[in-house]
Amino acid sequence: MRRRADLTQGLRFCQVRRGRLVPARAARIDLGDAGWDGGRAVTELTIRRPDDWHLHLRDGAMLAAVLPWTAAHFGRAIIMPNLVPPVVTASDAAAYRQRIMDALPPGSDFQPLMTLYLTETTDPDDVAAAAASELVTAVKLYPAGATTNSASGVRDIERVLPVLERMAEIGLPLCVHGEVTDPEVDIFDREAVFLERVLEPLRRRVPGLRVVLEHVTTKEGVEYVQEGGRGIAGTLTVHHMVINRNHLLAGGIRPHYYCLPVAKREAHRLALRAAAVSGDGRFFLGTDSAPHTDATKLQPCGCAGCFTAPNAIALAAQVFDEEGALDRLEDFASLNGPAFYRLPPSASSIRLVKDGTLGLVPSEIEVGADTVTVFDPGFPLTWRVEEEPSQ
Ligand SMILES: [Zn+2]
Repeated sequence: MRRRADLTQGLRFCQVRRGRLVPARAARIDLGDAGWDGGRAVTELTIRRPDDWHLHLRDGAMLAAVLPWTAAHFGRAIIMPNLVPPVVTASDAAAYRQRIMDALPPGSDFQPLMTLYLTETTDPDDVAAAAASELVTAVKLYPAGATTNSASGVRDIERVLPVLERMAEIGLPLCVHGEVTDPEVDIFDREAVFLERVLEPLRRRVPGLRVVLEHVTTKEGVEYVQEGGRGIAGTLTVHHMVINRNHLLAGGIRPHYYCLPVAKREAHRLALRAAAVSGDGRFFLGTDSAPHTDATKLQPCGCAGCFTAPNAIALAAQVFDEEGALDRLEDFASLNGPAFYRLPPSASSIRLVKDGTLGLVPSEIEVGADTVTVFDPGFPLTWRVEEEPSQ
């Protein structure tokens, strides 16, 4: 007979097993048939439905192919606006939102949270109106040239100050791709340099601005968020918690591990994992799932991005399991994000299991005549989400 441990039992289980204190609030842990009596590891876990606070869905056939994988596991996602042309105005966002809604599988209640692409000609009134009508949840800052389709991004921060000041007034968060694009700066240093050269001066200039430092990949980024006061949060991807730059470059180049910001040294990967499982409410999941066709990845100059939507939650569970922190997975994946964005947490839940059978994650998905390779962590997935999308 299945038994559900109450919160206290779940916490006590964790303490006995790991010999450390755990936070007062924990995920609802369903121990199932295994675990509690025999002192075996947790093999079932029910958490509030996660949200993805950084997602690329693209458009057209790609949107139709990748959206079901996110909608199957996540309740909401912050949708990146770097289309060609980018989602710049409220009317662009409304049209893109409708295309996403039209591409959803029947019966899905997934909610896209739209963002606007900040340009040097963005109109503060348009942003304010879009926020007031709840059409947009955030504005995205791409330094010009930083990543895929970022040519329209910001070159001179001075020119976007009126928009940032209005956002501070109304509490609308700014999502930041935190890398400088100066060709003189080494690609592995671009995040750390961005913090010093761009982000800190910007936050001093607009002190009330609420900022999400996205896809943090360095120890410096983690520390900046930890020490940055109330108005800042950081998203972490699962792939940056799984791979370091050796996985990308040693023993042959692996284009499917190439993303931006690029994976860093092992010490940074460990810092990201520590931040994710720390219980610090300033860190939450943003997968940065970023599909490109294999034809565009496997090129002399291949595109940057890892497609992680199908296995992101299973991988997150695996990381938290390895770190002895399954009781904090719900905070990271489902609670910290809504709290920062001032939204209620999801009302529904998902069930994760670790039962010795591997998740039904394909190695690739079809997009028209082409394929998109699913992120392969290089080891078997031990956790899986019970429900998988119908295709
Ligand atoms: Zn991204």
